[in-house]
This record gives sequence, structure tokens and C-alpha cells, in this order.
Amino acid sequence: MSQQKFNKTRFDAALTRHWQHLGLASAQQMTPHQWWQALSSVLAEMLATQPPAPPKQGQRHVNYLSMEFLIGRLTGNNLLNLGWYNDVQAALAEHHIELSELLEEEIDPALGNGGLGRLAACYMDSMATVGQAAMGHGLNYQYGLFRQTFEDGQQREAPDDWLRDRYPWFRYNAALDVQVGIGGKVKQNHDGSIIWRPNILLKGEAWDLPVVGYRNGITLPLRLWKASSAQPFDLTLFNNGQFLQAEQQGIEANKLTKVLYPNDNHAEGKRLRLMQQYFQCACAVGDILRRHHLAGRAIRSLPDFEVIQLNDTHPTIAIPEMLRVLLDEHQLSWDDAWHITSRTFAYTNHTLMPEALERWDERLVRDVLPRHMLIIKEINRRLKKRVKKQWPDDRAMWHKLAVVAEGQVRMANLCVVSCFAVNGVAALHSELVVKDLFPEYHQLWPNKFHNVTNGITPRRWLKQCNPLLSTLIDDNLQVEWANDLDALAWLAPFAKKKAFRQQFRAIKQQNKLRLTVYIKRVTGIDINPDALFDVQIKRLHEYKRQHLSLLHMLHCYRQLRDHPDNPDFVPRVFIFGAKAAPGYYLAKNIIYAINHVAQVINNDPCVGDRLKVVFIPDYRITAAELIIPAADLSEQISTAGYEASGTGNMKLALNGALTIGTLDGANVEIAQAVGEKNIFIFGNSVEEVKALKAGGYSPKKLRKQNPYLDGLLKELEKGKFSEGDKHAFDLMLQSLTKDGDPWLVLADFDAYIAAQQQVEALWKNQDAWTRAAIMNTAHTGRFSSDRSIRDYQQLIWQAAR
Ligand SMILES: *Cc1c(COP(=O)(O)O)cnc(C)c1O
Repeated sequence: MSQQKFNKTRFDAALTRHWQHLGLASAQQMTPHQWWQALSSVLAEMLATQPPAPPKQGQRHVNYLSMEFLIGRLTGNNLLNLGWYNDVQAALAEHHIELSELLEEEIDPALGNGGLGRLAACYMDSMATVGQAAMGHGLNYQYGLFRQTFEDGQQREAPDDWLRDRYPWFRYNAALDVQVGIGGKVKQNHDGSIIWRPNILLKGEAWDLPVVGYRNGITLPLRLWKASSAQPFDLTLFNNGQFLQAEQQGIEANKLTKVLYPNDNHAEGKRLRLMQQYFQCACAVGDILRRHHLAGRAIRSLPDFEVIQLNDTHPTIAIPEMLRVLLDEHQLSWDDAWHITSRTFAYTNHTLMPEALERWDERLVRDVLPRHMLIIKEINRRLKKRVKKQWPDDRAMWHKLAVVAEGQVRMANLCVVSCFAVNGVAALHSELVVKDLFPEYHQLWPNKFHNVTNGITPRRWLKQCNPLLSTLIDDNLQVEWANDLDALAWLAPFAKKKAFRQQFRAIKQQNKLRLTVYIKRVTGIDINPDALFDVQIKRLHEYKRQHLSLLHMLHCYRQLRDHPDNPDFVPRVFIFGAKAAPGYYLAKNIIYAINHVAQVINNDPCVGDRLKVVFIPDYRITAAELIIPAADLSEQISTAGYEASGTGNMKLALNGALTIGTLDGANVEIAQAVGEKNIFIFGNSVEEVKALKAGGYSPKKLRKQNPYLDGLLKELEKGKFSEGDKHAFDLMLQSLTKDGDPWLVLADFDAYIAAQQQVEALWKNQDAWTRAAIMNTAHTGRFSSDRSIRDYQQLIWQAAR
């Protein structure tokens, strides 16, 4: 496929039709928002006429199932990928319209929580770019992730009404409607076959967004399913009263896809969430099978043509749903249905943390999905036979490996048992998946387990968000790097050139100025653009340890008070961006604490502009695109063993920020790639964390032995940052001491401060710092999501079966 050319005549004609349709007399009468709407509609229409790319010979079509797609704004990104940005800019200039201003009119679709949802979006972009035939399946939430504001330092949540009904990139195709049943009873026929009579029927509507490959003429659909009330398109069901039953049960179809659950790395065992999961899976499986039939293919050949990749366990219910359709609707035998299903599904694990591993109450599953519960039990029964054969009389072993146990369905176990491939998301994480999470399954099926290190799309995370740096790279390399990120390695020799270093530094400075203006606008705080920008942007979670950074903040403030005239003090701006799940009170207390410490530091006249703390509200893709190009230091300080990969770490390193981080997730691979001189690694390793936890680590003892750290904590305890309120930060402080400091924040404090001193030493030599920053950009090409997708192709999707 080759790049589609911009057709100005078509563009102008479609634009005219658009404002005429609005009943206006000229384009000039449109508001800026109507202009954005018009532009996006016109582009969507021009894209819709492109035929979908057929799979390459022998290539399996990929169905990427994810409950979240954190796509960010589309209009600018699609223009860039199409290669039409300059043409459209010129076409709009004829109307005296500035394209970059129009792009600011778009609300950021926040249909995901954090890293997992953003990964799904990057993978769609990369599948389109490398020419992998694929489709994304997700949910079309009416309300995405909540909007965050601060009130006296506390997080407040407001609904994110992103007006999906008027989002111009959506295409709804009624011919793709599917019907989904929920609840009800199962009955056995005389011949032993089973029928399921759901008592609720929903309609699934396919709303497609186009995912544009990078200048290759390929567009993939991201199909977001929306539940709508049961239109009685089947009159028999209407006459049987089944639609009315749904009403009686108080389940309105449109509630189902109303809201995104705002948890990151935490399972929520709610009935509505299970219904959402099933709704999405039933829509996706129905759609996949319909396409397979329409292509005239036999059901048995499904795994030869289709792969279903599960993004974490959230869409696991697709597995029993596939079995149900094959058994009950196609009347296949169990062995045939299992053979097809278990060669079609693959599972990506994203976490080892028990609180994030989904387990559903067996009674709830039976109530919502009675037929699926029977199927899960049959999988469990057959698994038991297999386990007993391998480990006879080992009850403990069966207890660990069971899919159904203690009244719960364990979704991760169901995935490992039913999928042909299981992968972790960074080398270290994949090793821990095998060693700590699933060692026995690994013994049973050693070849199932793989590693695919996560990646990020260089189109959005460099070319679009950092145009100045992109132009510098273009000017010096004169090769296309946006779809061949390893080419950035050619930048390494330029680090030796003084003029190049100066240009690189000047660009970072301009990006810092751009962020300074934004911060002033949204927080009212003036920051010093010459200070070191110390950035920690990610969901708020104890394991990510924003509170370790908070302790460092207290340390810097202490140093300024103890040595007010120290000429060597390195001016620093702490920049945070993070949402806490609304029910995660400890995380919200950490936000509260950071905001209160910020209030004191920012208003202390002795500090001046040498130290500032900024918590940017409502962290989301659009904010990330502004912050990342301006970062000097990237905080990746999770407790070792708990951040599966991280992708924020990759975005920041690619844009020339130096990482301070633990040996966790993909930090390990970033350190290998950029070289140990160009990164600041500190803290307890995975093995040391395990040893500390096993050996009776005591934060109380540690405080006694470390009077300096004890002093910093006492300031918080005595209310110095909370107008005398000694209990303002109780939740956080109790966790750090009384509750045993489960994330080893205090245990890593000294090493962290020492690493920050190394950061400051290097910062004082701006030339050496810039050299290290260039090395980060040059050597992070392997973290392109194009490489991740090629790994999936080689290891999983196209591997010999
Ligand atoms: C990349 C990204 C994340 C993931 O950040 P991590 O540091 O890997 O947790 C979360 N939210 C947004 C908006 C992102 O762009």
C-alpha cells in the first residue's frame, strides 16, 4: 500500500457541504469548535472511502481485545500519519484559520485509566504502521476517566462527558449490530444438549474509529461497542416478554457502557463490571465469527485465520463465550470446540500484584452468565485430571492451579490454561511471571511463555509532541526514523559536536518555556525555566512511590533552610501529574500531602525560585504531550518487582530526559540500552526486596537508626505542612511506619537521596548532561511499539502451530 495523496478539490467540496448542512451562509460563520468538527468530519469521510488492507499471505488477522483504549486526541495525529498536515494547514489558511489552534478544540477521549489503555492505543497505531491486519475491540464509554481538580489540595472528581454522540471520527454501522444475552437460566434438552435462556437482551452497536498507519495508506478499525436498549428487532422475543423482563430487572441497556471503572491495577468485583466485560466479549466474538463465515471459511479453520489477543484478564470471558457458541450454536463436540478455542486465544499478563489479579465470585458468575459458569467448571474438571496425572495426591498443587476454587473463578488461571501463548511485558516481568506467578503451569507447558517488552509509538510520542526535536533529527539524519526508530542510533556521534549539543539544549529550553506557560495558566504558579524539571507523571499508586519523591522534596527544603546561601544548590521544579482512583483513600492522601508541602515551599520567601512543587491537575494524554518534551529528569522509582514494564519511562527517555529509577520493569532494559553512565539506578533489587520482606524489615527500627529521615517524617507528623493539623497525613504516615512500609519507601530513602546527588553533580555540567540526554534519545529506538508488534508477530501470532 502506498500513501494516499491529499485531494484539495474533494476537501474543499466536503467542507462546503459541511457548513451548508449547518445552515450557514459561509465557512466564516463557523465557531472554532464547529471548524474542528467540520475538519474532522471531512477527514473521516475522506478516509472512509479507503478499502481495508487484506492480510498478507498466511498472516493471521489479529483481534486486540482491551477494556481500555487511551487514544488521546485524533485529529492532529491522523493528519500527521496521513502526511496531510501541511496541505490542510495551507487549505485552512485560505480561510484565515490556524490549524494548530483548531486542534486545541478537541476534547481528549479518555477511554482508559493509564499505561494499559495507552499501550492498546500505541499497539493499534503500530499494527497499522507495520501492516499487520488487525482490529481493536473495546467499549464506547459515555463517560471516560473522571476529570480531576484540586480543592484545598484534595482531589475532586467530575464526570468526563466527552460527547461521544458528536465525536466526528466515529462511524456507526447498523449492519454490524449484535445481540447479547445476560442472566436467565440454562436448561438441558432431551438429547443432553444445553440451551441458555437469558432474561436480558441487549443490542451491541459497532462504533468504529479509524487508526491511520504512518504514511502507508493503511487504516485499521478500532471498534468500540456501545450497549443500547433492546430494540425489538426480534418480535418473537418481544412477544415472549423478554425485553420487558430487562426493564423489570432495572437494567437499562445504556447503563452498561455508561462509565469506565476508574481503577488502575486494582480489580473491582462488581456485577456491572462483569456485565461490561461480558458485553464486550460477546460483541467481539460474534463479530469475529460473522466475518469468518462471510469469508466462506469453515469454523474449524478459525485459528488459521484469526488470533484473539487478550490485554490482561479483563476480556477473559471471551474464552468461555467462544466455547459456548461453538458448543451450543455450532453443535461441535467439546474436543473440537476446545481445539479451536485454545489455538485462537493468547494472553498478555500485566501484573503480579494479588489485588490486581481478577477473581470473580462463583455465585455472581453463575447469576450473570449461567451457561459460561458450566463451561468454566468443565474446563476446571478436565484440568484437574491433567494436574492429578502430573502430581498424583498433591492436593496443595491442585489448590494452586485450579480455575475454580474457594468459591471464586480465577481469571488469570483460566487464561493460562486456555491460551496458546502467555506473555509478560518486560524481560524482568516475564521472568517473574514464570518464576513467581505460574511456575507450575510453566512446568506443564514450558513453550507457552514469552516476553514481549512494551513499546510506545514514535509518531505521537516524538514526532507529534516534540516537533522541534523531530525537525532537528530530520535535519541531521536525513532518513525516515518515525517508522524505523532504530535509525536514531545515528544520532549518537552528533553528541560529540558542540553545535548539535547547543541546538539540542535550546530545544529542551523552548519546550520548558512552553510548559512554564501552561503551568502558569492551569495552576497560577510561576516556575523558573532554568531549574531542573523533575517529572513524575503516572497514576497515583503506592507501588509507584510518589511519596518517596515527597520525602526527597522535604530533604531539598531542609537543605535550603540549613544552608540558605549555598551557591551550589541546584534549582529544581518538582512536577507531578497523577489521578488516584476515587476509592483509593491512601493514594488520595498522598496527593493531599504533596499539595500541602507544595503550598508551604512555594510560598516560603527564603526559597525563592530555587525550589517549586507543581501538581498539574487532570493528568491525561494531552498534558503528557506537553510535559514529556520539557522533562529533564524522569522519575521511575517503583518498588522493584511491581512495575510490570512502564511506558512513561520510554516516552521520557526518548525525549531526552534522564531516568532516575529502580531496577524494575523496562527500566532494566532502558539502562542496558542507554548505558549506565546515562541513567541513575538506585535502590533495592527484586531479590533484595524479597529478602527484606522475608527477614522482618522494620521501618520503625530504620527510623531510629536514621535520625535525619526521622526528622523529615516528624515535620509531617507535627503538622508543619498542615497548619498544625497532626492527622492530615495519617493514612500515608501510618502506612510508612505502623503498617510496616509495605512498599519499602524508607528502605530506599538513603540510596535515593544519594542518586539525586549524582543527578545534581551531572546537572552542574550542562554540557555533559546534554550529551547524556542525546544518548537517551539515540539509544531508545528499541522501545518503539513497532518493534513490540514485530515481536508479537514472530513469537506469538505467526509462530508455527
Ligand atoms: C504513558 C502514560 C501512562 C503510563 O505511565 P507509566 O509511567 O508507565 O505508569 C499513564 N497515563 C498516561 C496519560 C500516559 O500517557
